[in-house]
Amino acid sequence: MALVYSIEGRTQLGTRRFYVGSCSVAEWGPTAAQALQNRCANHAARGPGSAVWLRCCSGLLPSALCVVDSGPEGLKYELFHTLLGMHSHGLVYTRGAHLCSVALPWGSLSPLLETAEDSPTFPAWWLRLTNLEQSDSLKRHLAGTCYRCGKGGHRASHCPQQDHLPVPGGVGCVYAAHYLPVPKSVYFEGGTGMRPPRWRYRKSVGSKKGKKGKLMTVKVAPPFGVEQIHEAGMMAAELCDVEVERRREGRGCGAQQA
Ligand SMILES: [Zn+2]
Repeated sequence: MALVYSIEGRTQLGTRRFYVGSCSVAEWGPTAAQALQNRCANHAARGPGSAVWLRCCSGLLPSALCVVDSGPEGLKYELFHTLLGMHSHGLVYTRGAHLCSVALPWGSLSPLLETAEDSPTFPAWWLRLTNLEQSDSLKRHLAGTCYRCGKGGHRASHCPQQDHLPVPGGVGCVYAAHYLPVPKSVYFEGGTGMRPPRWRYRKSVGSKKGKKGKLMTVKVAPPFGVEQIHEAGMMAAELCDVEVERRREGRGCGAQQA
């Protein structure tokens, strides 16, 4: 049996984030209710297989969405609920299934979102999905393999194909580049003397002609480990998320270009 669940958390900047996942009841249970609590505790403790998306969140609130017969069935429902969640909570606040990266390629996402918008019940949605031309990462998700490399035995977060963690200056830039076509909008500033190393995010989208964008700083406390780099990248990306959402809703200066 597989449990499909959602977890809601709040980031340090106060934004709500939603995550949809599935897990084996036998592995995390023995009951579905215990599996839900154990899996959520694992996410909160950043244990093996925990969601990167939730790492800068606290106060995680788990909810059971459904219990289905098998793991493969759970993966289908996981994707279905992820897409529904993106519709109800907003694209920039929801992740799940193979759509769990902080920065998502929005272009390839839209056909998937349309399937859920037009078919809000699972059987109808599944029929539409099977008729859709499927991306490699979607096929890999449904096959239960690593969606990054296609092999079994590990999750994408532990994929050997991403052991090249970007050097400082890389993580946030990559995330930011997906949202904002501004070079070096997020950059790393090395510590000197009394100043700790930190990430900076230049909010340049809302800047007007002749005026520089507002400069926001994301601090990274030493010791400066992989985890902190990642977290700083997450927070920087979140600042971008907020800006993108503002543009999408037409409140920001850049609404016309969005
Ligand atoms: Zn892999």
